[in-house]
Amino acid sequence: MSFRPRYTGLIERYRDRLPVPDDARIISLGEGDTPLIQLHNIPGLMGKEVELYVKYEGLNPTGSFKDRGMTMAVTKAVADGARAIICASTGNTSASAAAYAARAGIRAFVIIPDGKIAQGKLAQAMMEGAVVIQIRGNFDDGMRLVKQVAAESPVTIVNSINPYRLQGQKTVAFEIMDELGRAPDYHCLPVGNAGNITAHWIGYSEYACTGSKGVTGACTFCDGQCPFVGGGAVVGTRPKLAGYQASGAAPFLRGHMIDNPETVATAIRIGHPQSWDFAWKAKEESGGWFDECSDAEILAAQKLLAEKEGIFCEPASAISVAGAMRDIRSGRIPEDSCVVCTLTGHGLKDPDTAIAQSTAPVVKIEAELGQVKRAIHDHLV
Ligand SMILES: *Cc1c(COP(=O)(O)O)cnc(C)c1O
Repeated sequence: MSFRPRYTGLIERYRDRLPVPDDARIISLGEGDTPLIQLHNIPGLMGKEVELYVKYEGLNPTGSFKDRGMTMAVTKAVADGARAIICASTGNTSASAAAYAARAGIRAFVIIPDGKIAQGKLAQAMMEGAVVIQIRGNFDDGMRLVKQVAAESPVTIVNSINPYRLQGQKTVAFEIMDELGRAPDYHCLPVGNAGNITAHWIGYSEYACTGSKGVTGACTFCDGQCPFVGGGAVVGTRPKLAGYQASGAAPFLRGHMIDNPETVATAIRIGHPQSWDFAWKAKEESGGWFDECSDAEILAAQKLLAEKEGIFCEPASAISVAGAMRDIRSGRIPEDSCVVCTLTGHGLKDPDTAIAQSTAPVVKIEAELGQVKRAIHDHLV
């Protein structure tokens, strides 16, 4: 029998690439190390030869990629002596902040839009002992208030404007490169506040700095200050980034901030993304693109992933697959490409949206053998 070392979270795994003080108490719930699953059925349905993977971030401890950033932000906050953290959230940041604050033994304050947060996320924040502040407003209003209050009160912001969040989130790219042994050709992901697309690009760029495949460009994120081999010159390959937004909440497509974002994908219902400049830079440097999907396309992709691959993600996550499928069909993503889609959050976060759109047969019968047999007979494929 062989043993492998117990996995203790992404800070331990990638410590040499993360800004963590030597003596810091690491606040971890074992985040990261999520499965990279190759889709076997959907490419066939499209009639396309592509190597298509999903990085299933819904399997992080609180069910979304936010945990990657939160382990770093809360570890840093605790090292600095913080007694409380605060965030504005469309749901997942609040669930994650609440969990890591509970783990650290400090207080979490979470500001969420009244009525526009998925049930699972609210349940998490409440169970994990956060002070939940519901505002009559949207995420963008919450973000504005958080910045104002943190300037005057002893609370540390753990939204993605906290640079430690992006440092933790960049590790998703490290894991993908470690597993594939190369960068994918394309990486597709949802864009809301745009912190995650920025973090992906930082991660790919840093890893490319230590590669050995010939210079392909300059990584402007590390600005020549990169501590790794290469010192700012990108020597490995990086993917083209495709960032998708819901049509009703698509400031990157409109070219300006928007005031009343609306989409069924509540996690990306954001009109004033905080990482605006970084995200444009990531798109430009990578040679990628932004595009939009309708709510109908998002829900169809969510259902297809669950029905054909057995993978249940929340609506915002499914936009990465909705967009990738459209771009693979059209040839914008050519055949024989290696494509990774980030599935940012778990489907169980938002059971109401799932049940409302489900057409799965629910057969109601008496508790009687003949009726069970008939139900089986009627539904054999
Ligand atoms: C936070 C979140 C997003 C958006 O990420 P940004 O960094 O804000 O662009 C997408 N999907 C899910 C499930 C999220 O929780």
